[in-house]
Amino acid sequence: MNATVTPITPALRDTTAPRVGGPLPGPRSEELLARQRERESNARAYPRHFPFAVAEGAGSWVRDVDGNVFLDFLSGAGVLSLGHNHPELVAAAVEQMGTFTHGLDMATPAKDAFTEAQLAMLPAGMRDRMRIQFCGPTGANAVDAAIKLCKTATGRGDIVSFQGGFHGSTHAAMAMTGLVAQKRPIQNGMPGVQFFPFSSCSRCPLALDPASCQTNCVALLERALNDANGGVALPAAVIMELVQGEGGVIPARREFVQRVRALTRELGVPLIVDEVQTGCGRTGTWWAFEQYGIEPDVVVASKALSGMGQPVAIIMYDESLDVWAPGAHSGTFRGNQLAFAAGVETIRIVERDDVLANVRERSAQVFARLAELAADPAVVEVRGLGLMLGIELAPPADGRSVTALAQDVQARALRAGLIVELGGRDDCVVRMLPPLTVTAEQIDLACSILVDAVRAALGREASAAA
Ligand code: PMP
Repeated sequence: MNATVTPITPALRDTTAPRVGGPLPGPRSEELLARQRERESNARAYPRHFPFAVAEGAGSWVRDVDGNVFLDFLSGAGVLSLGHNHPELVAAAVEQMGTFTHGLDMATPAKDAFTEAQLAMLPAGMRDRMRIQFCGPTGANAVDAAIKLCKTATGRGDIVSFQGGFHGSTHAAMAMTGLVAQKRPIQNGMPGVQFFPFSSCSRCPLALDPASCQTNCVALLERALNDANGGVALPAAVIMELVQGEGGVIPARREFVQRVRALTRELGVPLIVDEVQTGCGRTGTWWAFEQYGIEPDVVVASKALSGMGQPVAIIMYDESLDVWAPGAHSGTFRGNQLAFAAGVETIRIVERDDVLANVRERSAQVFARLAELAADPAVVEVRGLGLMLGIELAPPADGRSVTALAQDVQARALRAGLIVELGGRDDCVVRMLPPLTVTAEQIDLACSILVDAVRAALGREASAAA
């Protein structure tokens, strides 16, 4: 492959198998990676374990500048819900680009249509009482807005968050995140965050048996907030993910969520659900909270709202909380009209093509295809909800760390043409976040690659099925 990149998008979209030749990174990628290493911050992350430079994407595929083609089960961290460069989203964004692109928080037809479409996706009982607020265009900014709102509305100062959770990398969002290593070097983080255990059953923080525990992890929170000697002031909000994503793809137990909802309602504490990762169809319903039988007070959303990576972030909240002064949470980039146009189109396509049914069917397919892996003692659990899936690996018997094993699996999958991310404690979970439009053939291919990568990383023979 020579160094010139020729756009081959139609061909890439129709690809049926990954194609990786020669070493990774290839020579042209290495040139770009070397320049990136020289010029960009040491904080850069993904290029360290994805050693290639991307030339283009189409559907579930990406092609690097050396001509290697990968099946992309990262999807821009769950952002590209309809795959790369969905032609109808591109058309909607391009049309909007020629009309009006940036509008602060002014009223525009594109924003009005987006608002209408988003509110219509809420359950019937919620849509008439929820307000929508456009935040700065990242999940973390919307998380900040949500807690500022709840502090303003309640006049209280503390926040309850859950161990293992992730809410972003700004000062306040990071303070509510479980990742201790990220926080350690930063002095004077936001005070007043109380962490409680999440229903993380494969590694129960209380060493309880999920078969008999009656979800007693949540009893700690119940008692702390109801105990005059519990040491925890009534908080301004409780913030939770319904499936912890970065924390290792851990779906909350239904009973856990329902008890948190009942408790917060009883005590008059707003419940914020952070649907930045779980939202917009990722778990098989438009919002994950629909599957838990609860109605939150505040919903935070961002990543897949535009379906194509045009940045936009919102909070939707009960109108009783709407006590902000004008301009109380401002930000220049709250009016990305391209994102609004693409977001409306995303919802239209999701409904027209019944994309949520595809999410549920492909999810079931992954669990069926990985059943053998799930039963293997080298694997703690295959778990997830919808197309937010993970394989938790057990520490290997050969003295390697579980992190080294997971990195080996990830590198082998990449060599075989599959992009997967790691997450969870010690990065022991191999994560899958394919586009919601992923096909049965692509799921089959990815599962074969993963089964073989795990076997090979454990020093076993490859399966005959691959
Ligand atoms: N909340 C959750 C649940 C997330 O997964 C993320 C990002 N991974 C964020 C918040 C932060 O979003 P952003 O990176 O856009 O700030």
